[in-house]
Amino acid sequence: MREMADHGVRVLLKPDDNKPRKLKYNLGHRRILTFGGAYSNHIRAVAAAGQAHGIETVGIIRGEEHLPLNPTLAHAVSCGMRLGYLDRAAYRLKHTPAVQAGLLERYGEAAILPEGGSNAAAVRGCAELPAEITEEYDVICCAVGTGGTLAGVSAGLPEGRRAIGFPVLKGGGFLAGEVERLQREAYGRVWDNWRLETGYHFGGYARSTPELDAFAARHGVERVYVAKMLYGVLDLAAKGAFPRGTRVIALVTSSLTIF
Ligand SMILES: *Cc1c(COP(=O)(O)O)cnc(C)c1O
Repeated sequence: MREMADHGVRVLLKPDDNKPRKLKYNLGHRRILTFGGAYSNHIRAVAAAGQAHGIETVGIIRGEEHLPLNPTLAHAVSCGMRLGYLDRAAYRLKHTPAVQAGLLERYGEAAILPEGGSNAAAVRGCAELPAEITEEYDVICCAVGTGGTLAGVSAGLPEGRRAIGFPVLKGGGFLAGEVERLQREAYGRVWDNWRLETGYHFGGYARSTPELDAFAARHGVERVYVAKMLYGVLDLAAKGAFPRGTRVIALVTSSLTIF
């Protein structure tokens, strides 16, 4: 675990891949069908978990097939995942009964996991994270895509600790509602020990700036999620947003450093 000190704030970078945690309580099925973009870490994780646990997996990818497959999808196929594609209009309707019935007819009965894998079971998986941290800390920070990780981390926090989520999407304020919905689905209640910092999206999902690119390269962290969160943490520290002496755990949710 790497440690940084900045403006009286101690930041520990804790490697912790959130996607396996989100899947842990979602695996008791014969076949899983799920959704994602062509570079989705979730698709990659579902394919790997399917292979490890003997579960058939189907990945429905947004957009058209591009050959040769990119590394994410090639890896998924090598794990045994079947791939299907939905054009962008159909993909937007993927949560509707009509589209889902069509997919089940085509690929066979399956448990359907939402895009990004965020559901009540995923929240319960992520809620196990705080108890596994052996270092002393005050705040846990994580990147936010769909909110499942933050919802779980918040639910698992010991008394007096707080969580801050950094949406990687533009206009990420709506994710507060998602975090609450997911906590309610998992536990029938919400927690008030977390907040969002929506100012670090750098233009939106998978968008970047030269400054963020340089930051990601300098720190050797993945750019779509982790760099935005870490940039935000250090920026908040520099602005004095944390009391001196605050101990921050920054979750490095992807070990990938490729851009
Ligand atoms: C998926 C992902 C996240 C976001 O998790 P959510 O539960 O969707 O908010 C954060 N970091 C990385 C590296 C991810 O792949």
